[in-house]
Amino acid sequence: MVISCSAFNCTNRQIPAWKKSCDENQKEIHFHKFPLKNQALLKKWIHATKREKWEPTPYSFLCSDHFKPEDYKIILGKKKMLKEDSIPSKFKFPGHLIKKNVQRRVLLRIKHSVLQLLMLSNTS
Ligand SMILES: [Zn+2]
Repeated sequence: MVISCSAFNCTNRQIPAWKKSCDENQKEIHFHKFPLKNQALLKKWIHATKREKWEPTPYSFLCSDHFKPEDYKIILGKKKMLKEDSIPSKFKFPGHLIKKNVQRRVLLRIKHSVLQLLMLSNTS
């Protein structure tokens, strides 16, 4: 069975081991099952994926592209594990699904003025 990601607009699939070795540069993608045994967390995951009227099955997965580095913990010094309470947060939704995010615009503006400051200090 090929594992593929259930997230909107995500085409990540689990790459068979034989294919992986051919392309060393391929970034490693991990797949995570939906927390079917934890109803409260499961609701948050479904809400995060914005897939209304959709129920994950034991064969539904989300790939590591939708989690932040801090959603993981390192076990045994190297193995990356998703924390028990992590909620996916990185998605590529189409415009109509994205709420107008004021905070983001403010951040962009700050970024822009920082850039301008940097450019000014470089020229002087
Ligand atoms: Zn994905």
